[in-house]
Amino acid sequence: MKIYRTPTSMQRAALAWQRDGTLVGLVPTMGALHRGHLSLIQKARQQCDLVVVSIYVNPTQFDQPDDLRRYPRTWTADRATCMAAGVDAIFSPSKLYEADHSTWVEEKTLSQGRCGRSRPGHFRGVTTVVMKLVQIVQPNRLYMGWKDAQQLEVITRMLRDLHVPTKMVGCPLVRDPDGLALSSRNQRLSPAERQQALAFPQGLKEAVSKARPIVWLRRYLQRQPGLKLDYVEEANGRLAAAIWVGKTRLIDNRPLRRVQKKVQGPKLSGH
Ligand code: AMP
Repeated sequence: MKIYRTPTSMQRAALAWQRDGTLVGLVPTMGALHRGHLSLIQKARQQCDLVVVSIYVNPTQFDQPDDLRRYPRTWTADRATCMAAGVDAIFSPSKLYEADHSTWVEEKTLSQGRCGRSRPGHFRGVTTVVMKLVQIVQPNRLYMGWKDAQQLEVITRMLRDLHVPTKMVGCPLVRDPDGLALSSRNQRLSPAERQQALAFPQGLKEAVSKARPIVWLRRYLQRQPGLKLDYVEEANGRLAAAIWVGKTRLIDNRPLRRVQKKVQGPKLSGH
């Protein structure tokens, strides 16, 4: 497994792979790898000749300096995970932005609601860093998780709008056996907070089959001890929500199961 530390060295290797006709899959991550990331890596392993995992805690997508500072960094374990999963290369630059960096990629529609509303500037940071990664690694395929549904939608739109010849592969959301969606930020939860957080996936699961899922889930989450509601929204057939547990923000989503309305027979008229 090769480790690339600079954009230049990574791009040089990537251009050679493209010349050889190698099918390259990129799994972009911020590290602190868990089974959710691993599922993306495994899908890429099945579908590509060569798998690159990028590990970079992107400062421009953090709206809170404290969140960036506290983000878990577990390089030694991450390297071992990638090695065991048959990853060919890790791209982990110490820096991706010049001091006078002044060019941004911004998606203006799909990034507006949900996390875009709660985290100003977040998606501009995400689109910009993913565009950089795609330019550097030149992947044929990009593997991203439905855990971050809005991110997946925004990046898919960006690839289309900017004619980037990289195919998006969306991968299913992976949960812990207790239902909590796997996330690097879960590491920050105390045992008591984690216990309180379980009401989040439980409520979401129940809400998707209710007649008024948004209203139901909002009320449910507002009643849960230790949880602070950020948002509940519906988008593209999914119910998505974000909550705070102490200082940790968690997101989750599920496809909506449309409640069957009772089919009424045709009204008889003319009598
Ligand atoms: P992150 O390291 O949190 O930026 O996530 C990197 C990629 O892994 C993103 O495409 C995420 O959507 C995906 N991912 C994170 N957690 C999960 C999960 N529980 N299930 C599936 N994909 C995930």
